[in-house]
Amino acid sequence: MDYSGFPFYPSPDPSSSGTTSPQDSVNAMRGQGDGSDLSQTAIPASPLLDPPDDATVSITFGPSLRDDDRLPDSIIVSSNHVYFYIHRHRIITASSNGFDGLFYDVEHIYGGSLPTILCREVGDTLNIVLHIIYGMSSLHYFPALQTVDNAFTAMIKYGIPIEPHAAPHQQLYQLLLSNAPYHPIDTFALAASHGLEDIAVIASGHLLSFDMSRLTDELVTKIGPVYLKRLILLHQDRMTALRHILLQAPRTHSPMPGCRDGQQGLLIREWALATAQLAWDATPSKGISANSLRLHLENIGEKIACEGCRRMLVERIHGVCYAWSLVKQTI
Ligand SMILES: [Zn+2]
Repeated sequence: MDYSGFPFYPSPDPSSSGTTSPQDSVNAMRGQGDGSDLSQTAIPASPLLDPPDDATVSITFGPSLRDDDRLPDSIIVSSNHVYFYIHRHRIITASSNGFDGLFYDVEHIYGGSLPTILCREVGDTLNIVLHIIYGMSSLHYFPALQTVDNAFTAMIKYGIPIEPHAAPHQQLYQLLLSNAPYHPIDTFALAASHGLEDIAVIASGHLLSFDMSRLTDELVTKIGPVYLKRLILLHQDRMTALRHILLQAPRTHSPMPGCRDGQQGLLIREWALATAQLAWDATPSKGISANSLRLHLENIGEKIACEGCRRMLVERIHGVCYAWSLVKQTI
């Protein structure tokens, strides 16, 4: 993820009087930073736990973040030194395993100004996880799908159930669906790998023209047999439905003066030829749309002189387009 889109406080600037480093942020929050108003949690920072020079603090999870009017009582630090000031009870409540056990025995790393947990994940990943724990949307960060994927992995590790947060209109649901139009197969694979039915169904709607030959072994493994079968059947069923729709030729009209020389027979033959070619060529990867069907079939009209026959052709083309629009578009 591009950090330019991730609004951290900037790293400490020696030339600036700003209070932007993790330690300065805490001091500033408490007053003048002189230690005169330290609470019982304000144990002097251990040299080993002093923030590194490249440390940044999450703006959302900064030291002044209040939860029920309480200030943060712990810090989570990512592998790339992003500091998240959090409320311990929030984490404990959301996690079924004490955040991978890190919060079971938090006092042993009590060395900084607040109890500090070090995590292996990068800031982008933890940012999503913490937003989910706090019930806040992280959609405005536009996280990459890989970051969302990493957040899923982290949630499993930290004992945070995925499914409730991926229900319609929940944070994960919105994060995944925002990626679906741009990365449909990866979104589908991620949703399928976690059994997130609603999201997999919606993502499949973006895969109607997906070329299955592009599936890598990794994707196939991730999607799994059940959802892969459903995607294959979706493609097959749509092609079968298309051929069935095209089989029906235009109606014939009542005898009329302008229709001579076997025009009605010609229309039926031309329809058969055109649709046979369509049905033969049709594959999901060609992205068959109602409009492309219409354009292809309208060419038949150029060979038909009778106005009555042309009306029958137009009527049938409308019927084809309508019927095609009703064919199932998701798994
Ligand atoms: Zn005619």
